[in-house]
Amino acid sequence: MRYLRFSYEIESVIPANHPRRKSLLLREKLVEGYRNGLVCDNGLIAHGRGEAFNYLLGERTRRPAREAIKAAAAALLLAERPVISVNGNAAALAAESIAELAKELNCKVEVNLFYRTQERTEKIGEHLKRAGVGEVLGVKDAYARIPELFGERRKVSIEGIYRADCVLIPLEDGDRCEALVRMGKRTIAIDLNPLSRTARKADITIVDEITRAMPLLVKEVKKLKGKNKAYLNSVLKHYNNKRILEESRKLINF
Ligand code: ATP
Ligand code: MG
Repeated sequence: MRYLRFSYEIESVIPANHPRRKSLLLREKLVEGYRNGLVCDNGLIAHGRGEAFNYLLGERTRRPAREAIKAAAAALLLAERPVISVNGNAAALAAESIAELAKELNCKVEVNLFYRTQERTEKIGEHLKRAGVGEVLGVKDAYARIPELFGERRKVSIEGIYRADCVLIPLEDGDRCEALVRMGKRTIAIDLNPLSRTARKADITIVDEITRAMPLLVKEVKKLKGKNKAYLNSVLKHYNNKRILEESRKLINF
């Protein structure tokens, strides 16, 4: 079987007025990432779960997500050592906006995989660099360990996640999110499922699709950059993640 090449062929195969066009193009991007060795098989399944919630949310950024994005921007700007944690799906879908956010915040980017293999880690690192990330941690320096986690997924970089005070974890799993919270890190999740453990354990949960949420987060960081610490702290003080999750849940409760 001959595979379609994403960039030009698929775009012309899916009619412009197809109601699921955006979703199908995104799916194709992930499949392309899978063929290029960035995404693992489990990543494809995880994306499917995300698609279902995305559909139920109306495939657009909803009000609670906008509020969470503002809080996330404030938290990242207040942090002393913020880190963006990147897995295969996040790299395949949002490498450019990850690079842009890292540049805006002058923060570190670390590859951190649930199903870690050296080969995939390196491929993701190269992909991020091609997208404009200057330095990628977690490829050759994952010598520290997240306590209480087992297997390869507990390996992190000392200069990155291990020492971070605030971690952005798009599409993270619940165990790791919980472990990071226990380590005293402020965690910001991007997760379409407001009921997942990740969504419930994180300090700030952006219930939105990663390719919609990331550019909005970059925009918000740019906007809040000029504000003083007192303002950013007040944004965080008035933010209530439980309420945001409840509001998001109601949006999909048809
Ligand atoms: P948890 O371990 O936190 O309870 P889970 O087991 O439901 O979560 P996984 O299958 O481990 O979740 O990871 C997939 C998660 O990522 C799902 O919650 C899914 O909604 C979300 N997700 C998948 N693709 C995207 C995407 N493109 N944008 C945002 N969220 C996504
Ligand atoms: Mg999980």
